[in-house]
Amino acid sequence: MIKSTYNSIHPINNGNYILINSLSGAVDVVDGLVKERLDRIEQTNLQRDNQDEVELLTFFKKRGYIFHSLAEEQQILFKVKDAMEKMTAKSKWGMTFNVCTTYACNLRCPYCYQGHQIHDHNHALDSDEITKMFEAITQIIKMEENRGRFIGAQHRMVLYGGEPLLPQTKNTVKEVVERAVNEYGFRMCAITNGTFLHQFLDIFQPYRDQWDFFQISLDGPKAVHDKRRIMAGGQGTFDRIVQNIDMALERGFAVATRTNVNKENLGHLVELANFIEQKGWNKFPHFGWQVTPVTNHFSEPMPDHLPEHELLIALYEMFGDLDSFIDKYNARLGSVINMRTSRIRNTIRSFDWSRMDDMDACTSSGVTSVPHFKECSAREQRFYSFGTEGLIYACPDSVGRAETAVGSFSPKYELNSEAHQQWDRGITDSKECTECSISLFCGGGCAYANLMRNGDITKPYCNYANETIDVYIKHNKHLFEELGTV
Ligand code: SF4
Ligand code: SF4
Repeated sequence: MIKSTYNSIHPINNGNYILINSLSGAVDVVDGLVKERLDRIEQTNLQRDNQDEVELLTFFKKRGYIFHSLAEEQQILFKVKDAMEKMTAKSKWGMTFNVCTTYACNLRCPYCYQGHQIHDHNHALDSDEITKMFEAITQIIKMEENRGRFIGAQHRMVLYGGEPLLPQTKNTVKEVVERAVNEYGFRMCAITNGTFLHQFLDIFQPYRDQWDFFQISLDGPKAVHDKRRIMAGGQGTFDRIVQNIDMALERGFAVATRTNVNKENLGHLVELANFIEQKGWNKFPHFGWQVTPVTNHFSEPMPDHLPEHELLIALYEMFGDLDSFIDKYNARLGSVINMRTSRIRNTIRSFDWSRMDDMDACTSSGVTSVPHFKECSAREQRFYSFGTEGLIYACPDSVGRAETAVGSFSPKYELNSEAHQQWDRGITDSKECTECSISLFCGGGCAYANLMRNGDITKPYCNYANETIDVYIKHNKHLFEELGTV
């Protein structure tokens, strides 16, 4: 017998331990003796005449904590992976087409991951380029359907940039949205700084039912926000953005307010939460608040950087019970905190172990989240991103870096299958990730960060994944304790 590669053990109080397996999704509280028996599993043989021992080993096996051999574990790993890929292919949600209407931006936020050089490129997609982009999209949909993926699925288009909603992009935006909704039936979103949203809402109003949300950044209360989300001339943008969030919510659009957090504005989150409450935004059913550390995908040091797990600790300190915070503000935490803790969180919240099957990945109806073989849709070849220079990218964050492009749509459509294939990498393509105990909670990290920091999508940049899970478990010990030991 061997212990599963994907076990992790966390001490809690009274000599008990939380035992977690990222492949099966099993989470159990065990006492010291049970932990010790698991630790010794490789050295001691099963005593078949000892009923307790037989029951314990049956439990370990059923929950995915032990296997007969590494080969057996690998077989299960690939079986689950195969099931996940089939689930993705048949998902009712298809691909996301990310469109940079322009690389230009009217703001000069000091922490912008794109760098500001790109924001001087003023070109907005013209009619001819838009036609070519949709022709490329038609080809991509056909290609994916021929691969048996996303047949009849609902696809989505995201407008972003640069800043997608500028006075000079009005015609581009109007044409892209009209065609996306009327000809392709796409659902729509925009990631915008929100400064010119008021000039666009009339254009979007007829499509409100197809509009999923606007993501708009608000980095703190006025005095804080106005130092960070600044115009090229240094002027603040708080008042205009707040008015535009009000206007969008009142007109029935969903708004995901995003707060980009580092050590500079961390201490102002409570004040911002109070502001959100005072505005009544969190009473709108279609309001959400995304609290996310400022990141870039490169290894240069970032001033005031706040790692994900430190953000999590700070949120516990500021807001107490995180689940109530999430419920109150319809909050999403971090770029990956949510994903890395979601299966554990669902397990704790379900409070019903009997709903957990052997492999929650594919069989359980009680657990809604699934193992992550890939961190994001870029790795699933489910993102197609269009830059204004006519190139297609797998990852929306990499637009403008021609060396990361996987094809082109203008002057002609071409997908470089070798470059595209590079992105189709999950944890099983990386030795470090395959052997990492939490890999099925993590999905192998951000492919773009791996590429930019380590030169290869399969060379992981872990971005404090272990620490984040540790913090989450430590802060929820009491919930585990209520469940009692095995
Ligand atoms: S990126 Fe790091 S934490 Fe994530 S699966 Fe790979 S090795 Fe594990
Ligand atoms: S590769 Fe990284 S930046 Fe790109 S979509 Fe995936 S997680 Fe996001």
